[in-house]
Amino acid sequence: MKNQDNQFKKVISHAKEYGYIVQSSEIYDGLGAVYDYLQNGVELKNNIRTYWWKSMVQMHDNIVGLDSAIFMHPTIWKASGHVDAFNDPLIDNKDSKKRYRADVLIEDYAEKLLIKANKEITKAAKRFGDTFDEEQYKTTNPRVVKYLSERDRILQRMSKSLESSDLADVKELIEELGISCPVSGSKNWTDVKQFNLMFGTKIGASAENSMDLFLRPETAQGIFVNYLNVQKSGRMKLPFGIAQTGKAFRNEIVARQFIFRMREFEQMEMQFFVKPGEQQKWYKIWKERRLAWHLSLGLGKENYRFHKHDKLAHYADAATDIEFKFPFGFKELEGIHSRTDFDLKSHQEHSGKKLQYFDHEKNESFVPFVVETSIGLDRMFLAIFSTALQEEELENGSSRIVLRLPAILAPVKVAILPLIKRDGLPEKSHEILNTLRLDFNVVYDEKDAVGRRYRRQDAAGTPFCITVDHQTLEDDTVTLRDRDTMQQKRIAIKDLKSIIEQEVSMSNSLLKMIQLSKTKE
Ligand code: ATP
Repeated sequence: MKNQDNQFKKVISHAKEYGYIVQSSEIYDGLGAVYDYLQNGVELKNNIRTYWWKSMVQMHDNIVGLDSAIFMHPTIWKASGHVDAFNDPLIDNKDSKKRYRADVLIEDYAEKLLIKANKEITKAAKRFGDTFDEEQYKTTNPRVVKYLSERDRILQRMSKSLESSDLADVKELIEELGISCPVSGSKNWTDVKQFNLMFGTKIGASAENSMDLFLRPETAQGIFVNYLNVQKSGRMKLPFGIAQTGKAFRNEIVARQFIFRMREFEQMEMQFFVKPGEQQKWYKIWKERRLAWHLSLGLGKENYRFHKHDKLAHYADAATDIEFKFPFGFKELEGIHSRTDFDLKSHQEHSGKKLQYFDHEKNESFVPFVVETSIGLDRMFLAIFSTALQEEELENGSSRIVLRLPAILAPVKVAILPLIKRDGLPEKSHEILNTLRLDFNVVYDEKDAVGRRYRRQDAAGTPFCITVDHQTLEDDTVTLRDRDTMQQKRIAIKDLKSIIEQEVSMSNSLLKMIQLSKTKE
């Protein structure tokens, strides 16, 4: 735990030191769970968004994008269920005065049981070697069975109580499990209360004719209310999807995990409209496609897992999270939800406008079903950034901090470094810089010894350094240094563009994604 905390603290301070992320309004002591992206942060964030957008819109014939407004008619949130049901159960510890999400306290407890079971399984796998049958062990070893069944029992009871709004039972469960406050260590809890997460605001110049609005808590509704506009103007045939990225706002109760849980954040969502009855098929396909997108970035397969929901949101008939191993453990990174026809039907009822699809072959109209993929851009940023940040022992006994960002996402692709600050090397470096910047984000750095400059670029995440030396002036070659291997190669200036392009272009990763995604439509 201590180790995890330390690693996470390093992530946060590195993000600040290298121009990625700082707390919002820092000079006024900050604003809780709101963050600003600095010069490198904004580039990384843009690149993640672009990679997602290309994978959705550019790579599919039947997916288009849109950009809907943040302000929307307030009835939309009545229709979507957010006014009545977008609540989190909160509980306070009377001694520390800290506020928690009751469901998260219980889920964390259940996660510990899973970790215990997995430990036993790993030990047994080592002991039995090749003959080990994990499935059999899970169902026969008494200790593992006890951990796993206890976990299931707890999660099921919680889902049932939350679904029936039996908040007294949620508190009872917390007490029965003996869950204590991580800060005070006490079990002195208040009752569990529901808390609506939407931010309210007003539109209009005078008090009499102003209208109460909400800041959108998800981008999805902007897609649903435009379903027919896109379908008609684009002559879209089912199945088809609409993608959107944009800000969402939630007044989160617990906001203590850096950009994992923010009050203002960005989502990347895609709603896929299908014929009724086909939702299960598409739900499966999108689970696999989304995992393939993640794996194509090369952060390591072992860092991802699926988590099927027992507790379903009011609109869903099936839901899975893709969880990622953050510095504080496996947590939700993305949700894949089979949303049924709930949203379109409800908007139909509340607006009085038909939101249907006319099937020419069958000569009938119906409300399509929807499968959604929804990922937080900031959470994805944290997943990438925290995995990339590594401290490495080097062969000569020293160590270095390196930010191994996937090259396709790195904010700056190349740093150009004259070996020394005279003899025409800066001028030659600028010549190269001015050509390469037409294609890539490039920086120039001439301060300090070249070794220190390499370290600086390693820590900032720059995949390539070009060093311009005296030989460059003679034969138009430079050294190209790779951040990860630290290998240097002598390269002709004229070949630089194509070599760098090969590594930083998104096309190879998109190809990998297609290969990893085995399902065909
Ligand atoms: P959680 O259970 O962590 O609160 P959620 O299930 O409410 O998340 P969804 O409503 O499914 O999340 O939102 C889809 C995605 O949006 C999440 O998988 C996550 O990546 C992102 N997201 C949700 N809330 C936040 C937040 N407060 N800060 C950053 N990202 C968020």
